[in-house]
Amino acid sequence: MSLSLAHLLNRNGLFALKGGVHPEGRKFLTAETPIESMPLPSLIRLPLRQHIGAQAEPLVKRGDAVVKGQLIASARSTVSANVHAPTSGQVIAVGFFTAPHPSGLPVPTVTIRPDGQDSWGPRLARMHPEDATAPELATRAAEAGIVGMGGAGFPAAVKLHLGQKFDLDTLIINGAECEPYLTCDDRLMREHAEEIVDGAAIMAKALGVKRLIFGVEANKAAAIAALSGYRNVLGYHIDIRVLPTQYPMGSGNHLVKIITGRETPARALSAELGVVVHNVATAYAMHLAVRYGEPSLHRVVTVSGRGVKEPRNLRVLIGTPIKEILDHCGGLIGDQTQLVMGGPMMGFPVQSLRIPAIKSTSGILALTKAERRKSDAMPCIRCGSCVQACPAGLTPFEMNTRIQAENLDGAVEVGLMDCIACGCCTYACPSNIPLVQGFSYAKGRLAEKQSQDHQREETKRLAAARTAREEAIAAAKREAMAKRKAQMAEKKRKEAEAKAAQAANEEAAQ
Ligand code: SF4
Ligand code: SF4
Repeated sequence: MSLSLAHLLNRNGLFALKGGVHPEGRKFLTAETPIESMPLPSLIRLPLRQHIGAQAEPLVKRGDAVVKGQLIASARSTVSANVHAPTSGQVIAVGFFTAPHPSGLPVPTVTIRPDGQDSWGPRLARMHPEDATAPELATRAAEAGIVGMGGAGFPAAVKLHLGQKFDLDTLIINGAECEPYLTCDDRLMREHAEEIVDGAAIMAKALGVKRLIFGVEANKAAAIAALSGYRNVLGYHIDIRVLPTQYPMGSGNHLVKIITGRETPARALSAELGVVVHNVATAYAMHLAVRYGEPSLHRVVTVSGRGVKEPRNLRVLIGTPIKEILDHCGGLIGDQTQLVMGGPMMGFPVQSLRIPAIKSTSGILALTKAERRKSDAMPCIRCGSCVQACPAGLTPFEMNTRIQAENLDGAVEVGLMDCIACGCCTYACPSNIPLVQGFSYAKGRLAEKQSQDHQREETKRLAAARTAREEAIAAAKREAMAKRKAQMAEKKRKEAEAKAAQAANEEAAQ
């Protein structure tokens, strides 16, 4: 299927987007590779924060035996997510381990040695979405530990409860998968269209919306055809919009804009405009959780790039170490391969082969030198290509100049915090300036500064509170002392009066 942008926009009643780029897709490496389930790994590492929000609270300790589906860490607050054992085995460690995250910082992690039996424990009760209420369906997402599987890792239940707070009308299911190389969502839509449509309708019911729309890029003709076989589910008409192939089409706010014409203000929620976006893999996980009582235990990961021997789409258990995934794909080839977790535009370098695939891991890429961006940065020539490419309407070269001058506040003034880190500017820059890397670095510095400022303010507040407390105690002591003195004086006065009265009485008696 090859459709021009103008044709697509007209035919589908879509709205125009600003910016964006057209990187080489390179999806052919795995697009025709059906999903294959990977055998049980030798080790499972489960970070207790695989999601945005508070880390989960561990419920197991070293030496405990666990069964498949068992809750091993529970959500600590509203924005958090349960973690379950993806297979049966024994807990061999509960401690800190490198996070599969750009920071690479250690996070609390439960490590399980699988026993090879893959024995299920009791599952969650099966639900009939036809009879369930919206809050019951949203709560199931929390019980099952489902998080956004498109990469963001936002707890799905929090988003599904938004219907109780905002006046929602539309759920958009994101099947754009605009990152080069990645084909896991494409394969999932082709091979599990019925389950995805069912999960999407369940989510629509949980949100209480009237419209359920799928957004799929035009380069996924087979997926569009597969989804088109299911037009009415749970009372929902399934509306499929064929989107132009353009990066970053899969960014939530851009999907909302192109499909509904509603523009989400920077740092606002699309829910405030009546729209919620979920990924196709999240819809699939919701189907399994509601219809079969299965928590979030596995996901499909694209393993690709010229640096891996056999690129594939693998269904892996959450927590499978990257090394075992790459070994299953024949291992790395070439000696200058760079490993990336996620897509090449928004992913991050892999710091260690021991880190695991988690609920939000869509891809593991092994990129050869020829596939990587050139790293020889040259001076900015003020060509404006980055401005044209930026979907957020920013001036990347200006932000970069200010960051290079250590003027972070100045970078914020020209929109640093509105940057969605999509990497379009870096891709478009003819001088190979690593713009988005600089923006991420600057945001990290600002977050650190904010945290230090917050700590300083907190220390000041605590010191002031202690001084006030000490002053109050001293004042109370002074008051008590003065009261005691007054009482003593009163007592003495009364004793003197009594003595005088007695002396007067004795004198009168004589
Ligand atoms: S990374 Fe930020 S500045 Fe660059 S194009 Fe994307 S939104 Fe614009
Ligand atoms: S694209 Fe690169 S060279 Fe052109 S203005 Fe932007 S930063 Fe400068």
